Amino acid sequence: MISHLTDHQLERYSRQIILDEVGEDGQIKLLNSKILVIGAGGLGSPVLMYLTAAGIGTIGIIDDDTVDVSNLQRQIIHHHSRLGQNKAYSAAQSLNQLNPENLLRIYPQRLDKQNIVSVLSDYDLIIDGSDNFPTRYLVHDCCFLLKKPLMSAALLRFEGQISTFKGYLGAPHPCYRCVFPEPPQAGSVPRCQTAGILGSVAGTMGTFLVTETLKEILGIGHGLSGQMLLYDALDQTLNRIAITKQLNCPFCSKPGNLSDLIQHDEVIDTCQIR
Ligand SMILES: [Zn+2]
Repeated sequence: MISHLTDHQLERYSRQIILDEVGEDGQIKLLNSKILVIGAGGLGSPVLMYLTAAGIGTIGIIDDDTVDVSNLQRQIIHHHSRLGQNKAYSAAQSLNQLNPENLLRIYPQRLDKQNIVSVLSDYDLIIDGSDNFPTRYLVHDCCFLLKKPLMSAALLRFEGQISTFKGYLGAPHPCYRCVFPEPPQAGSVPRCQTAGILGSVAGTMGTFLVTETLKEILGIGHGLSGQMLLYDALDQTLNRIAITKQLNCPFCSKPGNLSDLIQHDEVIDTCQIR
């Protein structure tokens, strides 16, 4: 645990330390925090870079995918020279160059029912940049049961949405399943390879995720629990809508326990773009 800032840290983070809402105490909080980013893709790229630049002390990166040339249009943490490499390792190389002082933990594997509890348990806060619904629901349910804040965003074409889920706090905080009770039916959501995504929209939503994360750690401003921010890039509009806790929610009205997670088996053949 860090209890004071070095001269180098005071200089490195000076532009945010000077903010009254951050200060030296806030920077120490950031340096002592542990954040897991699920997916080093379109959302994960800006998220990881800004978290690293801001001085988050420990950053976990989990991704079992490899860098493909079609990723480079939006997944800006990866370079052409790293085609074929595991994305978690590729991301770590960029982050080490940006800020060698962060502790990076690399998980070049897929998050699944068997490993999720042990992986998530080590972190204070989880950011979901995953590209498929089974992972998204599994991550949400595990965060709820472990009582960890979940920052979640989704993208498609020219649109994005973002919210914070802290349903474990009880009313009025909704859980993800209060809003989206079950994964969509197979085929009801456009497939990621065909629907398309403007790369900069992933950047916009990724930076929103980081802002909400830093606010959550610092305990400043108004978060997005109970709210969802909807972004439309074609109209260049942001709408903030209320989302409410459902008394008959299939999950948070009777959430069960961690051992129930291994019963989780919602495999469908649709995916979202990251
Ligand atoms: Zn719920």
